Amino acid sequence: MVNLNRKFIDTHCHLDGEEFNADRDAVVQRAREAGCSGIFLPAIDLVTCQTVLDTCSKYPGYCYPMLGLHPEEVRADWPQQLNAIHTLLLSALLQERAEGEAPIAIGEVGLDYYWSREFEQEQLEAFEEQVRWAAELHLPLMVHCRKAQNEMVSIIRRYAHDLPGGVFHCFTGNEQEARQLLEFPQFVLGIGGVLTFKKSHLPEVLPACVPLDRIVLETDAPYMAPVPMRGQRNESAYIRHVITRLAEAYQVSEDDICWQTSQNVTRIFGIK
Ligand SMILES: [Zn+2]
Repeated sequence: MVNLNRKFIDTHCHLDGEEFNADRDAVVQRAREAGCSGIFLPAIDLVTCQTVLDTCSKYPGYCYPMLGLHPEEVRADWPQQLNAIHTLLLSALLQERAEGEAPIAIGEVGLDYYWSREFEQEQLEAFEEQVRWAAELHLPLMVHCRKAQNEMVSIIRRYAHDLPGGVFHCFTGNEQEARQLLEFPQFVLGIGGVLTFKKSHLPEVLPACVPLDRIVLETDAPYMAPVPMRGQRNESAYIRHVITRLAEAYQVSEDDICWQTSQNVTRIFGIK
């Protein structure tokens, strides 16, 4: 079943989530059979930092952890949360761990003003602090951003010289927004199920201004399932529908999409 030329990596999957508790092994098995050669797991808070590490330790060399505090999880107690996450991050990095278990990125972190601006100032400070970690530890960033691109970009810009790179995850913007993000040469856009939605403008926006060497694939599972699975629980195997749509949009082969996006992942995360 596995087409060896068609390997891809899911750079953003909440595989530690309870949605997968009943059948996680089967989900990973289906991912492998679909050609998925690695899955990156983002944490969103202190609790999920631990569940992400635990889940990754069950699939060494296949699942890779990313630790951080998600903007929607930033509350008044964010300094304590960040302290605890930082301690966990440093110990996970220092510990002698089997290949695949050491954190490969800071994430998911960023700004989200979509639902609420209640903790706007706290979000800004928590994000900047974690961007500093990425610069100091030389780890890539997995960035989540909604309704706050200008603010997010201005923080990244302050540290851009010292950042090894990262992903602007779940990109759904227009050409102007894409161009602004691509000004950071070491960053790429994370593309997932939204590309396949009927009303998505991404099939036109991306080929117009985003070179293929600036894209990585992601599910954001269990969310954002692509058409024809839209509305169901998403999983890494479904990325093949995103690959098909991207190949159509760029008028290249699906193998080209897989090869180039995998190259991009290796460049940023050092994972093959
Ligand atoms: Zn996510």
